[in-house]
Parts: sequence; C-alpha cells; structure tokens
Amino acid sequence: MLKTDVLILGGLSGITAGISCRRHYPDKKVVLVRKEGTVLIPCGIPYIYGTVGGPEHDVIPDGLLKNNQIELIKDEAVSVDREKKVVALKDGETIAYDKLVFATGSLPIILPIPGVDKKNVFPIVKDYNYLGEVYKKMESVKDLVIIGGGFIGVEFADECRKGRDINVTVVEALQQCLQLAMDDEFCTEAQEKLAEAGVNIEVNSKVVEIMGDEAVTGVKLDNGNEIKADMVILGIGAKPNTVLAEKSGIELGFKNTIRVDSLMRTYTDPDIFAVGDCAEKHSFFTGRPVNTMLASIATSEARIAGANLYSPVHHNCGAISVFSTKINGRAFAVAGLTERMAKEYGMKVIIGTDQSLDTHPGGMPDSTLTKVKLVFAKETGVLLGGSLSGGKSVGELVNVVSACILHRMTADEIVMFQMGTHPALTPSPIAYPFVNAACKAILPLRGCD
Ligand SMILES: Cc1cc2nc3c(=O)[nH]c(=O)nc-3n(C[C@H](O)[C@H](O)[C@H](O)COP(=O)(O)OP(=O)(O)OC[C@H]3O[C@@H](n4cnc5c(N)ncnc54)[C@H](O)[C@@H]3O)c2cc1C
Repeated sequence: MLKTDVLILGGLSGITAGISCRRHYPDKKVVLVRKEGTVLIPCGIPYIYGTVGGPEHDVIPDGLLKNNQIELIKDEAVSVDREKKVVALKDGETIAYDKLVFATGSLPIILPIPGVDKKNVFPIVKDYNYLGEVYKKMESVKDLVIIGGGFIGVEFADECRKGRDINVTVVEALQQCLQLAMDDEFCTEAQEKLAEAGVNIEVNSKVVEIMGDEAVTGVKLDNGNEIKADMVILGIGAKPNTVLAEKSGIELGFKNTIRVDSLMRTYTDPDIFAVGDCAEKHSFFTGRPVNTMLASIATSEARIAGANLYSPVHHNCGAISVFSTKINGRAFAVAGLTERMAKEYGMKVIIGTDQSLDTHPGGMPDSTLTKVKLVFAKETGVLLGGSLSGGKSVGELVNVVSACILHRMTADEIVMFQMGTHPALTPSPIAYPFVNAACKAILPLRGCD
C-alpha cells in the first residue's frame, strides 16, 4: 500500500489544488491520480479542430506536477474506504491518505433521442485519444451538425469551418444561440459573426432523432425538417461525475454535485474536499445553488481547497460566473449577471452602456470597437454584471469587471476608476467604455432620467 498526506483524484482543478497545497503546506506529500495518460486544456478542445490543429497542441504539461513535487499516478480510483482512509485503484494498488480531494469533473450529457448511439455521433468527452480519433474522422466529413448553440457548440462550429470546406449547422432549441449566457443584443451579434463564418444556424429547433443505419446520415428536427449529416457533435452541456463519491457514501446536493461548505470540505467528512465541476456551487448574488461549470470557478475552488486542507485559510464567496469566447474573430464576454438574469431573479436594475475603439487614435493597427453593458442594482448602485464584445482586450477587461463585482463596487466608485491607457493598447481615457458606461448609469441611479 502507498501512503500520502494528500491524495487528489482528477485533472485540471486537481492540479490546481495540488499546487495550492504545495504552496501552503510545503512539507506534505501530495499524490494525484488521474485516469488519462495525457490531460487536455479543456477550454482549448474546440481549437483542436481549427486554430491549434490536433490534440497534441492542447495539453497541460505534466511538468507542472513535477515542478511542484506532486507525484502523478495514471490510474482510475474505483473505491474509497472512508473508515480506513484508503483509496483503491483499478490496477489493484491501494493508497492511504490523510486528506482526500475529489476533482473528478464532469461528463457530457447525452441527448435521450433515438439514434444517439450511432457511429460518428460524438459527445465532447475530455479525453485525449478519443478527441484525436474525432480529429482524424473530421478530415473526411462533409456535413457536420452540432446539437447545442451554447459556447461549446458555437466554438466548435467556428473552428471546424477553419481550413475545411464543410457544411456546418448548429441546431439550437432556444430563440438564439448563447441565450443562456448573454443578453439578446450580444447573442444577435454573435450569431451574425457565426453566419459570416459560413455556419448555418437553426434556432427554435430541437433534434428529435439521429438518422442512419449503422452510421449517422442526418438529423430530424421537431418541425419535421431533416438535415444531412455524416458527423454529429453533441454540445448540450455536462453533468457532474460523482458516481465514485456517491458510492463512497459522500452526500450529494444540487443536481448530484458533491455537497461542500465554504471551505470546500464535503458535508460528510471533514478530511474529504471536493472542487470543480463535481462540487456544488452557490451563486455569489443569491447564495442559491447554481449549475455553472467553468474552469475559472473550478480552479478558484481548487486554490481555496488546497489552502484549507490543514487549516481554514480562504472562504468560497460563491460563483460570479465569468467567461469569454471568440467567434469569427470577435470576442464576447460576461461577468456576473446579464440584464435578463437579474430580471429573472426579480432584481430592479439600472443599465449603463457605452462603446469605443480599443486604441486611440482609432486608426491604430487592429483597432476594434468594444461594447460594454453594465448592470447595477437600482437601490444601491452596486455592480451586478458586465457584458462585453470587441477585440482581444475584452478577454481581460471582463476580468476587471469580475474584480469590481467581487468587491461590490458601486457605479460611483467605478467613475473614480483610474485606468492605465496607451494609444496602441487601450481605448482613450476620455472614451474608456467600462468607466463611461458607469458614468451614464449615475443619473438614472439617482432617479434622474
Ligand atoms: C469543449 C469545452 C470548452 C470549454 N471552454 C471553457 C472556457 O473557455 N472557459 C471556462 O471557464 N470553462 C470552459 N469549459 C469548462 C471547463 O472545461 C470545466 O469547467 C473544467 O474542465 C472543470 O475542471 P475539473 O477539474 O472540475 O474537471 P475535468 O476537467 O472534467 O477533469 C476531471 C478529471 O478527473 C478525472 N477522473 C474522473 N474520475 C476519476 C477517477 N475515479 N479516478 C481518477 N481520475 C478521475 C477525469 O478523467 C478528468 O481528467 C469548457 C468545457 C468544454 C468541454
């Protein structure tokens, strides 16, 4: 039997938890067990099929573990004896632990429709060899249908068109692609960019059947229409991978995630922690459980858990939900609540919008129009969310918005924001759209129109 102080089961957030533990507890032995030989950068998966060209260019290097003295065991954990504090692996090995971290992630949701098990129908499993096979198969595809117009579906659609003369159709059940993540005006803009990239979009449509004999030949929609397909990608979301936790008697919570406290400890066992897609999340804004799975949340939880393993250091403040994506060269990003979400929560809000080029003068190379929409609580002026579209700078500007949300900054405080500006790198200080959007919200927040 092997022995360790800290045993971590998982990939992306597992690595982060291990590094955090190493920083806080340099003397502890840390072992990470993960199923895969090679672990992918999960957010980079769509880019395997276009920009980066193959799974070998989308890998988290194991050197990261070695550099942090984390021992890696490539195997699957199959049982946990909580009384004896021992985990058994598939190959028969056992590991005794002092602290255990579940970072077992999530698995794709499989649409329960006829034909979903046909050849060339691919859910997005975060597995190096599997996605390598999909990559090879993609070379001979002529008609690709992607089920689901969330950010994974649209990123796949955009990337799969790159360098390939294939028909790509996204089928989305809601009125617009990305509707669960962004307000209508941003969804419209994103869909226009997708259409410009040559992607066909079928909204308000559900796939009810996948057709073909052994292999897929098409999909049937709920309006009776059929779309030809020799490959189908399922991008309809993920469910937590918590079978092992449940089998080990660990309490599950919202939508079968592992129930954890704000220290990331399971409710069941103070020596067992859970982080990432497998762990329960609560909204930063309402405290209610939410079903958000993002690498940014997963790694934040992992840093918290790693620090708290032997003594409470950090508390999880809840999921703000920050994400960005890029569609046909234009970036879209949201931190916190959109106007639609805030209204669904019954919150009264004031909106501030602004737009500006992201260089000054605007004639600088690669200058791109940045659009900003901020959502403030009407009674307090506190920032609840920000939505953006624009160029590359949007990827970091959304993180500024997130920091302001975390610190519950008000519109008045954002007006006083002192930004560093440079002609080639940022909008003009006069026209800085994040600040100007807050300036425009000040009078309505005071009740003046
Ligand atoms: C295509 C795609 C694009 C995405 N893009 C973004 C993005 O742009 N931004 C963003 O924030 N999020 C994005 N996400 C979401 C993000 O990938 C997940 O939130 C993140 O991967 C969660 O990390 P995790 O460590 O919790 O789980 P996972 O990444 O799912 O890792 C879990 C690991 O645990 C291993 N494991 C499971 N069970 C066992 C066991 N019993 N024994 C040993 N090992 C086990 C698995 O094999 C896996 O390696 C994307 C997801 C997908 C699928």
